[in-house]
Amino acid sequence: MLNIILMGPPGAGKGTQAKKIIDAFAIPHISTGDMFREAIAKGTPLGLQAKAIIESGGLVSDEITVGLVKERLSQPDCASGYLLDGFPRTIPQAEALKKMGPEIGRPVNLVIDISVPDEELVRRISGRRVCPKCGASYHVTDMKPSKEGICDRCGGELIQRKDDNEASLKVRLENYYSSTAPLIDFYKAEGLYHHFEGTIGHVELFRQIEKTLKEAKQ
Ligand code: AMP
Repeated sequence: MLNIILMGPPGAGKGTQAKKIIDAFAIPHISTGDMFREAIAKGTPLGLQAKAIIESGGLVSDEITVGLVKERLSQPDCASGYLLDGFPRTIPQAEALKKMGPEIGRPVNLVIDISVPDEELVRRISGRRVCPKCGASYHVTDMKPSKEGICDRCGGELIQRKDDNEASLKVRLENYYSSTAPLIDFYKAEGLYHHFEGTIGHVELFRQIEKTLKEAKQ
C-alpha cells in the first residue's frame, strides 16, 4: 500500500512528479492547492474564503484544510493508496493527519521530500505556466509545451498562477521555512522520511522516486 505525502517548497517540482507517480502507481492525487483553486474557480463558499489568502501567498487555516483533507481521504478511491501533495504544511496539520490516518484506516506510510535552492525556486516559479484544466505544469524555457500556450496533456489554455509573482512567492517561501520545513524532523522521527535532490532533472528525479516507491510497495 502506498499512502504517500509529497513535500517540498513551491517550485520544487511536486506537481510534475505527482502526475508521474499517480500514472505509474494508479493512486489518486490529492492536491490541496488544486482543491482550493477549483473552489475559487467555482465560487463556492470555501473558494470565496480562501481566494485572498491564496493569492497573497498566505496559508489557509489548519481547521479548514484538515476538514477538506479528511473528507477527501475518506472517499472510497483512497482505500488502495493516495498521494497527498501540498498537505500537511504545518505541524498541527501533520498531527491531525497522524490521528485521522489510522482512524479512517489509511495511515501515511511514506514521505517524499524534494529540495531545491531558493534562487532556482524563484527562477522556476517566475517562468511557470500551468494548465487550469488538468493541473499540468510547464516552464517558459525549461519545459515548453509542444504548442505555445497549449497543454500537451489535455489541450487546455496555459496560464500563470495569480500567486506566482515575486511578492506572493516571498511570503510562500517564508511560510515554507517557518511552518512546513519543521515537518522534515517530524517525519524523520516517524521513520517515514525520504529526501530527494530536486535539481537533477525531472526524468532522473522520477527514476529515483519510483525506485523508492517500488521498494516500499513490496
Ligand atoms: P500549492 O498549489 O500547493 O502551491 O498551494 C497553493 C496555495 O493554496 C498555498 O500557497 C496556500 O495558500 C494554499 N494551500 C494549499 N495547501 C495548503 C495547506 N496544506 N495548508 C494551508 N494552505 C494551503
